[in-house]
Amino acid sequence: MSFFRREQRPFVIAGPCSAETREQVLQTAVALKKIGQDNTCVPVQLFRAGVWKPRTRPGSFEGVGEEALGWLKEVKDTLGLLVTVEVAETAHIELALKYNIDVLWVGARTTVNPFQVQHLADALKGVKIPVMVKNPVNPDVALWQGAIERFERAGIEDIAAIHRGFSGYGNGGSYRNEPNWPIPIELKRRKPGLPMICDPSHISGKRDRIAEVAQKAMDMDFDGLMVETHPRPDEAWSDADQQVTPETLQFILLHLVVRREYTEEMGMGIELEYLRQLMDSLDAEIIDLVARRMELSERMGAIKRAFNITAYQPDRWREIVETRSARALGHNLDKDFILKLYELIHHESIKKQLAILQDPSKEIKSNS
Ligand code: PEP
Ligand code: MN
Repeated sequence: MSFFRREQRPFVIAGPCSAETREQVLQTAVALKKIGQDNTCVPVQLFRAGVWKPRTRPGSFEGVGEEALGWLKEVKDTLGLLVTVEVAETAHIELALKYNIDVLWVGARTTVNPFQVQHLADALKGVKIPVMVKNPVNPDVALWQGAIERFERAGIEDIAAIHRGFSGYGNGGSYRNEPNWPIPIELKRRKPGLPMICDPSHISGKRDRIAEVAQKAMDMDFDGLMVETHPRPDEAWSDADQQVTPETLQFILLHLVVRREYTEEMGMGIELEYLRQLMDSLDAEIIDLVARRMELSERMGAIKRAFNITAYQPDRWREIVETRSARALGHNLDKDFILKLYELIHHESIKKQLAILQDPSKEIKSNS
């Protein structure tokens, strides 16, 4: 059984964005320790606090450093809570191990850099400690997977991924970091068995959206949650807008609906099984139809080549978008979803036609 998969789901990690003072760290930990003691909700299994903070611009609070590791050790020794910190340099690892920190996490700005991740992995060779790897700030599933594999190769047995969203320019306003759910789902597909933890604090950036993102993670079969908590969130030295009090976290956990992955042994899934079979055959039809559409496209490519017509025809594409969107609306399908789907299909179709237009073997031979 993985360190991150306990009998009680979700595995909850909570604590402040940054360790600020001894009093703030201990006050938060005491309040978090109380959660779930009466069995009304899951307990907090791991206490987090940033000790070295990766800030976007210089001049912001960059963490207390080594002194704060002593406060975390106190949390561990006096309350029996396991503790975790972010490590971004090998020196951080050495210090974290010196203070008996239980779990390490790699931040989003470190995961983007394979050199740095390799340094961290090398420093952990022969060390038995669980490691959590946050997604890189850019939406690159292979880079996230690669970072995890570096720790696997260094011999780390307990590894979890943390989904904290992806940054963008402006991000359209709604989230601080776009969740882009297909990316963690794809990582789960590539690495079956990898525990997946959601960090709704960094995704939402606003405390009133944390419950909603946490619930979504549960509905997507995530294993755990990492939530930033502070006794006085508005006064936090970093990430003030997204931190909640331990009492609010308790409220969120009390209202969380935890669902299970469906397995055949559950027995009550006959209807679900039937619907899955219907879906399987519909998917087979969809793929057959897409293949037929591509064949038509190739035949059109040959005609376009013969008459020297461009592969991309703006008027035709406009017409496709209009008619397909109108049809989608008639079926209550989201217009943007159908547009995205057709962009993919159209792009593939153009690619096939370009291959025909540019195929040198089909060059018309002159007789001279
Ligand atoms: C954090 O957890 O406080 C943090 C800095 O996270 P991230 O690496 O996701 O930005
Ligand atoms: Mn933070």
